[in-house]
Amino acid sequence: MSDLEGLFTPSRVAVVGATDREGSVGRALLSNLAAFEGEVVAVNPSRESVMGTRCYPELRAVPDAASIDLAVVAVPATVAVDVVRQAGEVGIEHVVLLSAGFREAGEEGAQRERELVEVVERYDLTLVGPNCFGVISTPVGLNATFSQGTPPAGSISLLSQSGAFIAAVLDWAGQHGIGFKDVVSLGNEAVLDECDFLAEWGDDPETDVVLAYLEDVERGREFVETAREVTGETPVVAIKSGRTSAGAEAAASHTGSLAGQYRAYQAAFGQAGVLEARTVQEVFDYGQVLATQPALERDDVAIVTNGGGPGVLTADLVGESDLGLASFGEDVRAELRALLPAAVEARNPLDVVGDADAERVARALELVLADEGVGAAVVLCVPTAPLDFAALAEAVGEVRERHAKPVVACLMGGARVERAAELLQEREIPNYFDPAQAVASLEALAAHRAVTERAYESPRAFDVDRDRAAAVLRQAADREVDLLGLEAMELLDAYGVPTPAGELVADPEAAEAAAREIDGEVVMKVVSPDVSHKSDVGGVATGVPAGEAGATYERIVERVTDHEPDAEIVGVYVQEFVRAEASTETIVGAARDPQFGPLLMFGLGGIFVQIFEDTSFRVAPVSEREAREMVGEIRASPLLGGARGRPPADVDAVVETIQRLSRLVEDFPAITELDVNPLIASPAGVSAVDLRLTVDRDRL
Ligand code: ADP
Ligand code: MG
Repeated sequence: MSDLEGLFTPSRVAVVGATDREGSVGRALLSNLAAFEGEVVAVNPSRESVMGTRCYPELRAVPDAASIDLAVVAVPATVAVDVVRQAGEVGIEHVVLLSAGFREAGEEGAQRERELVEVVERYDLTLVGPNCFGVISTPVGLNATFSQGTPPAGSISLLSQSGAFIAAVLDWAGQHGIGFKDVVSLGNEAVLDECDFLAEWGDDPETDVVLAYLEDVERGREFVETAREVTGETPVVAIKSGRTSAGAEAAASHTGSLAGQYRAYQAAFGQAGVLEARTVQEVFDYGQVLATQPALERDDVAIVTNGGGPGVLTADLVGESDLGLASFGEDVRAELRALLPAAVEARNPLDVVGDADAERVARALELVLADEGVGAAVVLCVPTAPLDFAALAEAVGEVRERHAKPVVACLMGGARVERAAELLQEREIPNYFDPAQAVASLEALAAHRAVTERAYESPRAFDVDRDRAAAVLRQAADREVDLLGLEAMELLDAYGVPTPAGELVADPEAAEAAAREIDGEVVMKVVSPDVSHKSDVGGVATGVPAGEAGATYERIVERVTDHEPDAEIVGVYVQEFVRAEASTETIVGAARDPQFGPLLMFGLGGIFVQIFEDTSFRVAPVSEREAREMVGEIRASPLLGGARGRPPADVDAVVETIQRLSRLVEDFPAITELDVNPLIASPAGVSAVDLRLTVDRDRL
């Protein structure tokens, strides 16, 4: 038995801070625990009895205190740590600490939380909270929260970093018949966090779906690793709040300014197989469909409806989704024709027409579900006189029993739907008002299947010259600069990223000599830690013949000094002119996320990156499949693939560059941001012609 399983299946629970004072947390706890299968012990130093049962002054005073499995603590913060210490002393293993007044409450509270963690470590306790709403585990009737009422039992487990979210959804879910297995309010996560519960529920046969409300994930890497393991079997649906907090204004690179925390979350969720919900409604729509429906084996959806208009609307939504409209087989169409009025066409969306009764809808559903080309069905009905919704719900429920395919209902109406909705719920068929919800829910099933089908791929190993790269980065420390440019091109070479020939020179004569070393015309660019966009200040000259390199050197220095009189000019970089046929400028970059570590970006380079933000992100380490997805995901991807008769670019080389740069930023935590812009991609390969990176010199 894992430690946490014990938390959810206690036989003896102590409530410290038990009271019968009306409106108090202690009282709410006791009344919510009334349905608990095991024994509840009340503890409070200032009472002798609470709600008719004996009350002990402290945990120590409870007979056989060591047999208490769980202490639920709701006492003032000033005494909370002492209570937890006592729990440890008497041999209680699990604590749920509801009390506020810890890290969320200033320096004094933060100090208290540090003491709490010490106590927990000393006694090897598991602790939920502090500052949380509590835990629920329906199989044993445990409701150790101060919610109003207890949700129905079910197979969804919910974790939340917001207690208020739990309070709200428990009430709502109860009304909609959505049942839970375990519910945890994480509070300040002083000890246990989302990773612990994800791992626990991943192994829990009674949890079919995990729902998560997240504000921040502290252990980003562990989260990705744990969630990746879990989602291979158990679907995880998460909603992230704080999506818009920018925090990227200060970034020096394109990648840094586009990355932002939410991009990191989206990338991490995707890589870990976590399905992201954007609204609270989606959290529960996805949760419910995943908990109740069999796996979606194929994406072809049948729509059975008594309303032509809504049927077409739903077909549109299916068409716009990742799913497709099923086409019915010839046999099935013949049977449908026999069933339906003469003028009706047996095609999808299947309009059984306005005079249909429940039996006709159900028989049509039966026929389409039997079609092997159909993966799932939406029963979409509007209230009409011949159609008894309650009878329809019963009939649909029966048909569903005979087919291992997802069926969702969309009964569009108001009061007339209520009873039928209840019946559908009992039969585990999700019902929605809006067809968009029905389609999105089926998409969630498809997304979950995709997650379960993909095998984990470890990042590729590359032969790289780490020492040479380290030496390049040390230059930055020696020169006391944070921003590096072309003078660090060797970094790319050391990691096997193709770069054109080039040399940094510090006077016109050297520029001309360097240009003569290079075949054909050259490109010359200013090198300065104070210039981040070289062409904006006249710092780039392309197509320079060797004989003009000296004069061009002087011109570049002059132009840059005009624009930026105080810029320190290290010199000029003389570079081979990459003249590739049918080339596309792309950008590959990296930024560092405080929770998830390096975040890789791919996009169209040059000016497009900022204007269209046509970019894709993954957290490092990026596997080959993930790198390929990054390239395929951007809207402009067809440009690389050879759209409109263009020869296709060497996408493999782009994919490899992304992986090599992932390795580079993993190997050097001192690199805080990095842009290769552009990485010129052509049919002949790739070439990194520009580089900009910022380093944290303290980490070198
Ligand atoms: P910056 O981004 O600081 O303005 P770049 O080095 O990226 O400077 O140069 C600006 C543009 O010049 C690039 O986007 C690319 O179009 C072109 N360019 C730069 N170097 C080369 C090169 N070696 N070969 C071909 N084109 C180049
Ligand atoms: Mg550039």
